[in-house]
Amino acid sequence: MSTVFEKIINREIPAYIVYEDELVIAFLDISQVTPGHTLVVPIAPYENIYEMPDDLLAHAVKITKKISIACKKAFDADGIYVLSNNGEAAGQTVFHFHFHVLPRYINDDVSLKFVNHMNDVTKDEFKKRALMIKEALL
Ligand code: AMP
Repeated sequence: MSTVFEKIINREIPAYIVYEDELVIAFLDISQVTPGHTLVVPIAPYENIYEMPDDLLAHAVKITKKISIACKKAFDADGIYVLSNNGEAAGQTVFHFHFHVLPRYINDDVSLKFVNHMNDVTKDEFKKRALMIKEALL
């Protein structure tokens, strides 16, 4: 089943497109979590980052950088979040890979919160977790 992003790419539904080339498209996120909130989306409908071919991902990152700089300039943003939700548990709602470029402003109402658990994790546990990732990389 085609996602809402494919419908935008195919011009079946409207969007505020700010950039397009042969591989990616960027358009305003309808939710405008902050002013200028933009999505960078590969034209090919890969579901998530795990499936993205490396060269396409590299191009999407390059364009995400361009859009980030443009948003910072256009909206005089104080910072930029670059986010990608992969999987329902991570908050993904449209299953066509994308980067959010989310301008941040001092005193904006964005509430993504990283709780620091550093004091609950022993050195052994840090070592174990690092090893788990290193082994998974093999
Ligand atoms: P995610 O939750 O990371 O999968 O992000 C999907 C994003 O797509 C959400 O932030 C939605 O607001 C956005 N979205 C859904 N429908 C549209 C649409 N028709 N035009 C622009 N953005 C959309």
